[in-house]
Amino acid sequence: MTKYTPMIEQYLSIKEQNEDAILLFRLGDFYEMFFEDAKKASKELEIVLTARDGGAGKIPMCGVPHHAVNNYIARLVGKGYKVAICDQVEDPRSAAGIVKREVTRIITAGTILDDIMLDEGKNNYLVAAIVYNQIIGFTYIDISTGDFWVTERRADDTGEWLDNELQRINPSECLIPSEVANNSLWTETSNHRSLQITTIDFMSDVEEAEQYLTNQFGVNSLQNFGIKHYTAGLLAAAAILSYLNETQKGYLSHIQRINLYHSEEFMELDGFTRRNLELTLTLREHRKQGSLLDVLDACSTPIGKRLLRKWLEQPLLNENDINLRLDAVGELKDKILLRENLKEHLKKVYDLERLAGKLGSGLVTPRELLSLRYSLEALAPLKDELQDSSSPLLVELSALNLLPEVVVLITDTLDDDAPINVKEGGLIKSSFSEEIDELKQLSSQGTNWLLEFENREKEATGIKHLKVSYNKVFGYYIEVSKSNIGLVPDHYIRKQTLVNTERYITQELKVYEDKIINSRQRLFELEYQVFLQLKEQIQPYIGQLLQTAHKVAVIDVLTSLAITAYMNDYVRPTIVKDGTIDILAGRHPVVERALIEGRFVPNDLQLNPEDNRFAIITGPNMGGKSTYMRQAAIIQIMAQMGSFIPADKAALTIVDRIFTRVGASDDLSAGQSTFMVEMVELAHILSSATSQSFIILDEIGRGTSTYDGLSIARAVTEYINHYIKAKTLFATHYHELTSLGEEEQGIFNLFVSVMESGEKVTFLKKVLQGKADKSYGIHVAKLAGLPDELIERANVLLDSFEQTKTVQPVQTFSQGNLFDNHGSEIINELERISPDGISPKEALNLLYKWKEML
Ligand code: ATP
Repeated sequence: MTKYTPMIEQYLSIKEQNEDAILLFRLGDFYEMFFEDAKKASKELEIVLTARDGGAGKIPMCGVPHHAVNNYIARLVGKGYKVAICDQVEDPRSAAGIVKREVTRIITAGTILDDIMLDEGKNNYLVAAIVYNQIIGFTYIDISTGDFWVTERRADDTGEWLDNELQRINPSECLIPSEVANNSLWTETSNHRSLQITTIDFMSDVEEAEQYLTNQFGVNSLQNFGIKHYTAGLLAAAAILSYLNETQKGYLSHIQRINLYHSEEFMELDGFTRRNLELTLTLREHRKQGSLLDVLDACSTPIGKRLLRKWLEQPLLNENDINLRLDAVGELKDKILLRENLKEHLKKVYDLERLAGKLGSGLVTPRELLSLRYSLEALAPLKDELQDSSSPLLVELSALNLLPEVVVLITDTLDDDAPINVKEGGLIKSSFSEEIDELKQLSSQGTNWLLEFENREKEATGIKHLKVSYNKVFGYYIEVSKSNIGLVPDHYIRKQTLVNTERYITQELKVYEDKIINSRQRLFELEYQVFLQLKEQIQPYIGQLLQTAHKVAVIDVLTSLAITAYMNDYVRPTIVKDGTIDILAGRHPVVERALIEGRFVPNDLQLNPEDNRFAIITGPNMGGKSTYMRQAAIIQIMAQMGSFIPADKAALTIVDRIFTRVGASDDLSAGQSTFMVEMVELAHILSSATSQSFIILDEIGRGTSTYDGLSIARAVTEYINHYIKAKTLFATHYHELTSLGEEEQGIFNLFVSVMESGEKVTFLKKVLQGKADKSYGIHVAKLAGLPDELIERANVLLDSFEQTKTVQPVQTFSQGNLFDNHGSEIINELERISPDGISPKEALNLLYKWKEML
């Protein structure tokens, strides 16, 4: 059998417990990787692969310096690896034999705590899901903030819902039970969304899961969280916590509660709609800049930024809750001074949630505790500012817990300039402990003594340039240049010879060195102990700290929405119940920002459930149809998240879902034909929309031949108008559809206007009642720079097509229309004749006649 050195044996036994992770093994000032890990990591991290004698020959090795380890971990985790950190867990000085080492933390994409790997404006979620008794238990957590949610759903309607939730939450990692790893629901969803899946063994015993959760939260029962009877949810939540306990080695005290949610409480938005409306990212560049979130975000704190994103991704359905937010935004918009002062105070608040997370996971640094203190101190004047507020939500938020005990603890204990490092002193305030003060004095006296010693020796020896210095290997030494060695006294003990100098020690210097070093070590150790104590003392306040953090986040979001409303001239929408949507002079919040002020043309929109629920919008390319439709959806979302809106005035009925579908957009990555994708998404809209929904269709039916497309477009229009009755805006170049606006109740026509003078066409971007008769596509092609000959040829072709065009008669779903005029005559005649009583010739003549009549 191969005989490795004891240290490599130790490595191997630890690696055996962590086979699926890259093991970073602490050796002095480095974290080393060996064997296959070293080969993999050296490639991924582009670091040199070396070799080390492992006792039984050379073994591959690579390493990274301990102070930079987080950067390397970030890169490995970013590439999808699981990383296990193995530290020395005893003082090497007091170790007998090999220093004891243990894995202190495992890091995966969903369990990150380090700031450099996290985006401050975004949560980093880990998801777990399980199906139990036909119910899906679904849960997600951000370990860096303690944000923990759970819900349930019947397993038979999870397909679309699950995909929507995963797209909203955008998790970095998903946990699923090992036994369903190959289930098609997961493989399809995870492939399509490129999810990082980790399979683990879930608990199967509900009581055990419940016990696990009560232990974690330190409660007797789960009753208070309202999840006691959500068995599938409990199993998922227990699974996620046991995974976290395994990776964090038990340091999870900031995870103190779980929140139950029901998707039905929020407006449901599918992934396509979120992307298409560019809520948090732009379609093309996938950047926040240029998205709705970017326009709305005037938050001062990371906790606010993350909450604003959540509000935007989960618009509310409850009128009361929406109005509570709108009242608060209204008050802050009106009270300029209050708003500005709140902003000033908020700017001084650090990321309270992630600070609580660091406390809970035991990773908090002295600097971070100082940040916590400064943040809490900044909240006192913020709370004062809110005392005179009148809107119910602000009044509720003004009862802010400032955690004075925590402020006192940190202020009394920690030095105002405490460093990040915990092992090198400078942590504890003077006058906190007599012993620490004495040791500090001793160590600074030591420095004075050294100066005095140096001067004394210079005088005694007559060596002018004699110098006392320190290095780690020899400790303190006296340095004398070669030219002066003749003057060195006998009691100097030579330690080292350099090119130009000699280094010595003396008995006296050694005695002092021991004293100084010992006192320093004692000082650092004592300061470290006090710091650990301080962390312990703050632990019990983590729950309260998280509650305060949440309230501050809400204050920040409301202030941000008020600032945005004020800066951009937004108004408060009125929430109504009569099914209408009535927007006066609405604007697109992102497009208007990109234009020179005053250039955006505002437009009205009036929809009601009876005559005007379905608008067919025609008009030229580049006319502004897409912008007009999207702005309506965005205004609705803004209102339901509690924001003011870009319009002069608006009365809006709450909608349960918004769907958008844009024709001819590619989904090549999913390997489907464009038209197929369009139809699949259309099918999804038609099966999910209700009369309370809002649908936006942009050019659907365009990916096939003209008559196919026109027929589909028309049938979809009729279907939605007859059966679903959802409020719908449909932009189309099929001008033939506008006849429905005259024929069908519920459907009406809108068009974007243009002004033509001679060759010149001006797009007015004004939406008016009525229909357009031209698309101006060739004009747009000319603007885009297509060759003149081509444009000329297109114009000739257009003329000839228009002259020969025959408008096909169309029929609708309604019987009345199908058999209007001659139709009823034909039916009457059919009813009268007996097929057996007429000759074949008469029958043929009748057929000719009816055909003629039709
Ligand atoms: P197409 O049919 O070719 O897709 P469209 O009718 O949907 O065109 P949009 O894409 O909405 O047109 O708008 C075209 C351009 O006009 C956009 O770049 C936008 O910036 C600008 N625009 C749209 N609406 C307005 C408006 N109300 N005021 C000013 N500019 C606008």
